[in-house]
Amino acid sequence: MQIVRDIDSLRETVAALRADGGRIALVPTMGALHAGHMALVAEARRRADHVVASIFVNPRQFGANEDLSTYPRREATDAGMLDEVGCALLWAPDAPAMYPEGYATNVGVGGVSDGLDGAARPGHFDGVATIVLKLFNQVQPDLAVFGEKDYQQLAVIRRMVRDLDLPIEIVAVPTQRDADGLALSSRNFYLGEEERRAARALPRALGEAAGAMQRGTPPAEAIAAAGDKLVKAGFEPADYIELRDAATLVPLASLDRPARLLAAARIGTTRLIDNLAVEPDPQIM
Ligand code: AMP
Repeated sequence: MQIVRDIDSLRETVAALRADGGRIALVPTMGALHAGHMALVAEARRRADHVVASIFVNPRQFGANEDLSTYPRREATDAGMLDEVGCALLWAPDAPAMYPEGYATNVGVGGVSDGLDGAARPGHFDGVATIVLKLFNQVQPDLAVFGEKDYQQLAVIRRMVRDLDLPIEIVAVPTQRDADGLALSSRNFYLGEEERRAARALPRALGEAAGAMQRGTPPAEAIAAAGDKLVKAGFEPADYIELRDAATLVPLASLDRPARLLAAARIGTTRLIDNLAVEPDPQIM
């Protein structure tokens, strides 16, 4: 696997990969790779001839009081993992390569970035859309693979690709979880032993709320119960627990179509997010 850090070498290396006419898949990441990321790479390998992974801890998607400076960085380990699964190229630019002196362009995607993490982390999705569009322009992949773990991010990227007519197929991979249900996340590395044990309450509370809604409990009631369970388990009161339309992310007061239950909550200083599909029961509808 080649590792490149400047845009000229990237373009040269991608052109060489493309010379055989094969399809190129891009897997954008912020590094500190785990089995969730590796599932994206495996899906990319299945769908394309060459996989390009990127590692860039994007300062523009972190708020002033967020964890940019402490975000885990383990590039050598990450590169070994990517090499082992047949990744062709690792694009690992530094911040000046991405945002040179005088950089002034911002990409904003309306609608789907409203509310949820868009409200809890102002500017976050502008940072995401900006960096992902840059990565798309740099690598010009045929397809790009993202995780459902970051469900609103996936919706923002799909919207941007449609709105800007980008000729890139967006592929989604289901959330990969630990044995106790906790979604794999680079931020799980922050959790102490006790916090890690308590954190399983997040997928559990969401799963129970989803089940209750499917059995006819009003969403507001099921969501309030989930919030209480999180606090009892040791989480701070949730930033949000919301039921949204699975495709448009429009807020839903009742489970009358395919939906997604999304949540963000802090345990200690670590902010975790998760989401689940909630399908209406045709017999109750
Ligand atoms: P990150 O490095 O956190 O920016 O994530 C890079 C990509 O990996 C994004 O598309 C995430 O949605 C995806 N990802 C992160 N964790 C998981 C997971 N547990 N399961 C599936 N995809 C994930």
